[in-house]
Amino acid sequence: MATSVAHDLSHAPSVIQLRGVNKWYGQFHVLSDINLDVKQGERIVICGPSGSGKSTLIRCINRLEEHQRGDIVVDGVTLSNDVKNIETIRREVGMVFQSFNLFPHLTILDNLTLAPIWVKKMPKKEAEEVAMSLLKRVRIPEQANKYPGQLSGGQQQRVAIARALCMRPKIMLFDEPTSALDPEMVKEVLDVMIELAKEGMTMLCVTHEMGFARAVADRVIFMDRGEIVEQGPPSEFFANPRNERTRTFLGQIL
Ligand code: ADP
Ligand code: MG
Repeated sequence: MATSVAHDLSHAPSVIQLRGVNKWYGQFHVLSDINLDVKQGERIVICGPSGSGKSTLIRCINRLEEHQRGDIVVDGVTLSNDVKNIETIRREVGMVFQSFNLFPHLTILDNLTLAPIWVKKMPKKEAEEVAMSLLKRVRIPEQANKYPGQLSGGQQQRVAIARALCMRPKIMLFDEPTSALDPEMVKEVLDVMIELAKEGMTMLCVTHEMGFARAVADRVIFMDRGEIVEQGPPSEFFANPRNERTRTFLGQIL
């Protein structure tokens, strides 16, 4: 895999702040006092055991889940229940899920142009031009007029990434984007993500692809039982994990 592209973030402004964020599902305390600052252009990989709250954490950042205590600020906007506020955030924050979530009854091109046309009021022709340039970027322009079901999992996930990019987001969230893929398709998706990282996109990626973490992450965060247990640059995180729970986890996956 590519060599590390870690870069100097010391002067970059902060684009996401979480302050004392807590969330419960009923009695279950799923996020416990989360504090996190993400800088513009920073690439973060979040790992941790199943059920540790990784998905919940990143879903709170674009308000797919609501937290109960603490503050989340995205690009200067404090998240609240205000509909305008949520729309603003969703426009700035793109998300890619494990299960692609494409609209099965729409062509690839229509999947990509739907939100730009209806949410951003972009003229159809312009939306199609943007969509085609992004399909080229994820290396599948020839699939534009097919339906999701006719594509492989790796191709569908690249469409999902292109669809998120059509909205010109400032931040991209990835929730285990390669976990549902056959092994031979993992690389084609990771390559697109690595390119995006090199172009300077701010990224939060939940993934257990530790090769990806080593190659592009500025910071790796380990979560367990709703807490951020340990974090650091990949070189330190992998070579010298300080917490026992981190060591156990890495011992299982590496
Ligand atoms: P991870 O992504 O690290 O596997 P999740 O954030 O998906 O963890 O889930 C953390 C915990 O919260 C799990 O125990 C899960 O069962 C629980 N959980 C997730 N979503 C819900 C929900 N909508 N209602 C109740 N419990 C949930
Ligand atoms: Mg998850």
